[in-house]
Amino acid sequence: MTSPLSGGCLCGAIRYTVSAPVSQLRACHCTHCQKISGAGASVNAIIPTAGFTLEKGTPKRYDDTADSGRILQRYFCADCGSSLFSRRAVSPEVTVLKVGTLDAPVDMKIVAHIWTRSARPWSHIDPACEQHREAPPPPPPAR
Ligand SMILES: [Zn+2]
Ligand SMILES: [Zn+2]
Repeated sequence: MTSPLSGGCLCGAIRYTVSAPVSQLRACHCTHCQKISGAGASVNAIIPTAGFTLEKGTPKRYDDTADSGRILQRYFCADCGSSLFSRRAVSPEVTVLKVGTLDAPVDMKIVAHIWTRSARPWSHIDPACEQHREAPPPPPPAR
């Protein structure tokens, strides 16, 4: 996958491109993602912010205190309400992209489910996936 991915909100006011590779997805079943998505979970790709470019529009930001206690900056379209991406206040170099806002379905797979302790009873969780009752362990330190 070399060509950049594109995406945006429902009304088209916000458009973005992603140059970072996106293949492994994570479903978050925390209660805040349920509210923000109106669904059982949000499905996200963790990408470097350097590989994410806003091409059009300025999303509105909501500073959320996540179930983990961390401040999570949630970005969405102020016109149509689409939830687009989020960043932890302490690590703005990482963008958590809501992959349902990507334009084209590409070869991606959910590999992990997090915050499964608050998963809705009607949410399907593939038992073959990695699962965490709360937040996943932090990634290994960068070398
Ligand atoms: Zn919009
Ligand atoms: Zn969540």
